[in-house]
Amino acid sequence: MKHFPIFLAVEGRRIVLSGGGDAAMAKLRLLMKTEAHLTVIAEDIADDIRKWADQGKLRIIERTMEPGDALCAALFYAANEDDAEDTRVSAIAHAEGALVNIVDNLSDSQFITPAIVDRDPVTVAIGTEGAAPVLARAIKADLEERLPASLGTLARIGKTFRHAVEVLPMGRKRRDFWAAFYFGAGPNALAGAGEDSVIPALETLLDTHIMQTAKAGSVDLVGAGPGDPELLTLKARKALDKADVVIHDRLVTGEILELARREAIIIDAGKEGFGKAMAQADIDALIVQHALDGLHVVRLKAGDPTVFGRLDEEIEAIEAHNIPYSIISGITAASAAAANIGQSLTKRRRNSSVRLITGHDTKGYADHDWRALAQPDQVAAIYMGKKSARFIQGRLLMHGADPATPVTLIENVSRADQQIIATTLAELEPTLTQANLQGPAITFYGLAPRAAQAKATSLREFA
Ligand code: SAH
Repeated sequence: MKHFPIFLAVEGRRIVLSGGGDAAMAKLRLLMKTEAHLTVIAEDIADDIRKWADQGKLRIIERTMEPGDALCAALFYAANEDDAEDTRVSAIAHAEGALVNIVDNLSDSQFITPAIVDRDPVTVAIGTEGAAPVLARAIKADLEERLPASLGTLARIGKTFRHAVEVLPMGRKRRDFWAAFYFGAGPNALAGAGEDSVIPALETLLDTHIMQTAKAGSVDLVGAGPGDPELLTLKARKALDKADVVIHDRLVTGEILELARREAIIIDAGKEGFGKAMAQADIDALIVQHALDGLHVVRLKAGDPTVFGRLDEEIEAIEAHNIPYSIISGITAASAAAANIGQSLTKRRRNSSVRLITGHDTKGYADHDWRALAQPDQVAAIYMGKKSARFIQGRLLMHGADPATPVTLIENVSRADQQIIATTLAELEPTLTQANLQGPAITFYGLAPRAAQAKATSLREFA
């Protein structure tokens, strides 16, 4: 870049131009847009320039330029269309401290005048360093077409309102306000009831934005249950009813998302691009960002948010920004699955405890107290246990678990396509692989469906 574009403050300053013909007129047309004091010095002055002088737009000195004429000038234009004269007057202006432009003489000019798109106070300057004036003209024509004439009016009125908008916190809030004005409320007011209606429109818009700011954002970390909308808590329904944004897991069903407030923005955090899960840190940031914008965020998680839900990471991010939040319980997959096979998770004289375990964690297959689990009458609900089934089966058998221990796989718990597969520890694999389950599945170790269990018991009794 050989020329650095700047906007020069010329209000109340002198700009002197030497020359009185066509080149002078072309420059003067641009210069008259400014609030500078213009002086034109030439022996021969065109009629148009005289007219402009009569209108008070500039001052004329009707003689050739002399030393002292460019004193205190910010800018000087040599527009005599005569090389020798331009060189002479430029030397004077230069000596008197003005920045000098010689019309059509790039190399001897200290500055050049760009092509201008004027939507004052919005001004677009286009320069090609003299390389391609045609290009500059084409860009100018394009912009002239694209920028509505009302832009300047709106910017001018908007400028008078900047002070009032300082009640909004700096940054995004203010930017949102101005975007809403320039791309919505402003043009609408201007097109509707004209210029006088713009300030009232600004006032109304500001009121709306102040109200929105007063509304602090919050987050509800909500359990969506296993899929059946009827298994949602009332609190979850209410949270969905007033959600501005719903950020949900892959496992949350469409039927449940249907219950969100119609205007709510629904974000699938379980997918990105072609199905890859969003990184936890990105989800945290998404939650925080929307809450900081004053929105009510519902973070909707399958089952219960406190069970294998990475809840703590999200809470830490939320707390770090002092955002109010609440946790709304949901029915975890194990609870609903137990109900759907007619069993209780704990049972007197059978198991006084139940384990919720995960098949794998971020590091791979998860290890557990296999020895304890291998004891008779133990019950465990295994989450995310499809891939790790063979590993779990091997560990339990190795630690002496009875191969006949009942194992039940329940896929798509509580949904229309729920599937129950009753098997034993010995048969867990290959049964699971053969079943080729596509949906989420919970694996019960030590529990059989009630009917199957009853049948097995009666067979044993007959034997
Ligand atoms: N917070 C969830 C668990 C998330 S971990 C809850 O409380 O249920 C994801 C695992 O949960 C899945 O791999 C699967 O093992 C289990 N799961 C979630 N929803 C399920 C459903 N509808 N049917 C079967 N298993 C489900």
